Amino acid sequence: MVEGLLCGARSSSREGILQALLSGSREGILQALLSGSREGILQALLSGSREGCPEAAALLWSLQAASHELPGSPEVSVCFANRSAALFHLGHFEVCLEDIARAESHGYPDRLLPKVLLRKAECLLCLERLQDAQDILSVLESKIALDGVMTTHLTRLKKLSQLKVKLGEKERCPEPAREEHGGIQGKPEIWEENSRISGASSSLSLSFDAERGRHLVASQDIVPGQSLVKEEAFVSVLCPGESLPLQDGATAWDTRATNADLYCHRCLRQLLASVPCHGCSYAKYCSQDCADMAWQQYHRTECSLGALLLTLGVFCHVALRTVLLAGFAEVSRLVAWSHCGDKNLQNPEARCKPLSEAADSGADSRGIPGCGSNGWYQSSYQALFHLLPHTEEHSPEHKFLCTLSVVAICKQLQAAGLEAAVLNQESPQQRSKTKTCEKTSDELSPELKTVAEAMLRHMLQLQCNAQAITVMQELGPGDGAVVDKKPVRLATAFFPVLSLLNHSCCPNTSVSFSGTAATVRASQPISSGQEVLHCYGPHWCRMRVAERQQLLHQYFFKCRCRACLEELESGVKSVVSIRNSFCCPTCQAQMQGEEDTLCCSNEACGTSASKDHLSGRLQDLQQQIKKALDLLSVGKADQAIKMLLKCQIDAGTFLSPEHLLMGELEDHLAQVYATLGKWQEAARHLKKSIEVVEMHHGPSSVEAGHELFKLAQILFNGFAVSEALSTIQRAEGILSVHFGPQSAQIQELQEMKACLSELPRNILQRT
Ligand SMILES: [Zn+2]
Ligand SMILES: [Zn+2]
Ligand SMILES: [Zn+2]
Ligand SMILES: [Zn+2]
Repeated sequence: MVEGLLCGARSSSREGILQALLSGSREGILQALLSGSREGILQALLSGSREGCPEAAALLWSLQAASHELPGSPEVSVCFANRSAALFHLGHFEVCLEDIARAESHGYPDRLLPKVLLRKAECLLCLERLQDAQDILSVLESKIALDGVMTTHLTRLKKLSQLKVKLGEKERCPEPAREEHGGIQGKPEIWEENSRISGASSSLSLSFDAERGRHLVASQDIVPGQSLVKEEAFVSVLCPGESLPLQDGATAWDTRATNADLYCHRCLRQLLASVPCHGCSYAKYCSQDCADMAWQQYHRTECSLGALLLTLGVFCHVALRTVLLAGFAEVSRLVAWSHCGDKNLQNPEARCKPLSEAADSGADSRGIPGCGSNGWYQSSYQALFHLLPHTEEHSPEHKFLCTLSVVAICKQLQAAGLEAAVLNQESPQQRSKTKTCEKTSDELSPELKTVAEAMLRHMLQLQCNAQAITVMQELGPGDGAVVDKKPVRLATAFFPVLSLLNHSCCPNTSVSFSGTAATVRASQPISSGQEVLHCYGPHWCRMRVAERQQLLHQYFFKCRCRACLEELESGVKSVVSIRNSFCCPTCQAQMQGEEDTLCCSNEACGTSASKDHLSGRLQDLQQQIKKALDLLSVGKADQAIKMLLKCQIDAGTFLSPEHLLMGELEDHLAQVYATLGKWQEAARHLKKSIEVVEMHHGPSSVEAGHELFKLAQILFNGFAVSEALSTIQRAEGILSVHFGPQSAQIQELQEMKACLSELPRNILQRT
């Protein structure tokens, strides 16, 4: 079909394109482009290319160019090659191969050939044409060996060795053997599940006391990197992500892809070819299976509420989905139980009363809230229901707003005739007879009142127990050589087991996510008997104690962690304020004082300056940096460098050398030099950035790990083989503690290592 569209039909409707653009998905845009009219495409691409759809940009160029260039000219061949990239991205491998053949027959420039041959081999692999793929890879290898370093990008060599590995795997086991795959690269982790707490390691135990509530304690010595909790979210809701409102001006086409376009709304996997919901334009899934499952479990109820749920916010949405997933039978059982226990709810001892019908006979964890009658703590609705709602501590305004939202949802459910769907979750035939009563008044039915009550409880619980699921997202224009990643909030979820961990501003664990699953790993040695702690957000390396306590206020407790006690009671000055201080404009010594006027710490100097003035300079500087980055994003790297260097000189006159911004400046400079292919310069700047990051976050922090990862990529591309290898080693050491040996980052590092060790001799000799 696509073939047909490509060959002639360029006249397809503008609405189709419009639709795709409004929905903003990358695939949508590409698809529209492949079939669309010239004007629509142009418009689309103007915004598409800006907003990180490089394939679309390439395609615009190719469609425009193809009509102007003479057949047989290298320009036309480049157009075909570019279009093949878009086709490959869309998964149209057959057509992609045809475009590659066209590119080759139109005299595609020899020096660019490796890129296209790699794509060809990848297509053939996807089409299971293994012998053909093998042949192409051999051609490619001899070509690279012949041309040597000058025409070959190392990233391409890495791709080559990746493809060889893939080919090898496919040849060895023609049937896809997924389970074996994981074991090939990283060593399997040692994992023994706790017999009493689902998803927790056997080296933990559940404790309870009045001061700390429920908490997890190491029952044996734990080493850094060891997995402590592996839990699937009980419920998660994708955060729509930001898409800024359109500015005035009729030609503004907002094609920014948001989280809602990029990730499966059920399993949170990255979308390649999405399956949209047939009932709304919002929900998108990675597969028909996910779409069907989501529909069955909750989306048949949520589908028509889309706009209302988006308006009321993600907490409300999580609350609704929680009761839908739990099923009405379980919801009403626990709501009924909470009524009997009502008087005792605020009393921790009394809350330990057993939940279920079965009598208990006093074993250790049996009395702990949320545990089943057998004393086990399961990642279940029952455990979730027992998370503290802190009903008494929320402000009346907050409780009122939550109630209002919940009632709005329930009214809507009733008005839309969805009540049966909500209540029949568990057994569709059971209620149909009793539920024939007509909607008479505004009054909610007793069943919906129960649902509303549970939802309200969940909304209140979320304030303390909502867990953000984050994902590492690539930043910037990403030319493929050096990838900068930052964690981005993807969804809000309930994790009943993860919620057992108390907060510390200096935690001994680190959490990472894969899809909807969370893994908690020890980030430092934890000895037997110590409490296992994780950080809810306010980390001592990022905030002063006052800011932290302010933020932690929402969780209704005063943090008494080591860092807080030291800063509050022993008067130890926050590392943040020491490092992020101003320096004297005259003599560069540190500026002191908490008041409006800061004084130079060097008494002989005696310079003083107003704090407001210095803060103003800092803001100006940040704006300048932003401008420089904007220049970089439109390809004006030389100007960006000039501007950043100027910023650096300016910053040096009033910021201490350890100031985080000084490190950021070095990082930006490294990024610009990397886009220019000046690897040595880039590495020099990045190393300075790493020094600052290590000073702020510690040498074994995630932050330091990410910076080392970038340095490894830069050294790798700059052929600094031995230094690259040692940097890879260091990055691997740190990142595997935080993300585990199977994580994407570690795999990437190992691929780089494999590639470096397989480099043809003639390349190695040049280094
Ligand atoms: Zn999915
Ligand atoms: Zn829908
Ligand atoms: Zn603290
Ligand atoms: Zn001074």
